[in-house]
Amino acid sequence: MFNLILFGPPGSGKGTQSEKLIVRYGLKHLSTGDLLRSEINRQTALGLAAKSFMDKGQLVPDEVVIGMISSALDENQEVKGFLFDGFPRTSAQALALDNLLELKKNSIGVMLALDVSEEELVNRLVKRGETSGRSDDNNEQVIRARITEYHNKTAAVADYYKKFNKVVMIKGEGSIDEIFEALCKEIDNRI
Ligand code: AMP
Repeated sequence: MFNLILFGPPGSGKGTQSEKLIVRYGLKHLSTGDLLRSEINRQTALGLAAKSFMDKGQLVPDEVVIGMISSALDENQEVKGFLFDGFPRTSAQALALDNLLELKKNSIGVMLALDVSEEELVNRLVKRGETSGRSDDNNEQVIRARITEYHNKTAAVADYYKKFNKVVMIKGEGSIDEIFEALCKEIDNRI
């Protein structure tokens, strides 16, 4: 099994690149953002509780997302590997993920971290908000709150995996295909 974390701030291109990577490598895509939006669309209790955090640009509590990931790992036993997108976003989530994988005699192969300037992130998210239909994309204050959450709580997750030599920085500016090829090169070196 090959498990990969695609890491980076909101708007760094994780979703776009994930869609391409799962096709090339046959990995199971686990995006906590997508899972939460699906809960909201189905109007579940979890979705309604998560929405209030998401609409403010805040992270949803750890136990909620860890529970979702735990179920997703159990439901997908026969896959070639997982691509984690938007998870883990806190140190507690990273520890929980390592424990969950260890129970299945698995681990993270590599964290690929997309590096994009803050100005470019805000530009991309404002532009995405014009078409994505995501309520957290069409308000610059919420966009800035999400980037602040990233700096305060999520950036440390890369430090956690750096201790295990698992982090590779990838320039996240350029064409979608250029960034994709840079990501593939790192995966091919490890798979
Ligand atoms: P995303 O689609 O990854 O940009 O996530 C959208 C929103 O969902 C985030 O701003 C958070 O409110 C919430 N979210 C997604 N993934 C997580 C996570 N791993 N931990 C906490 N909140 C999350």
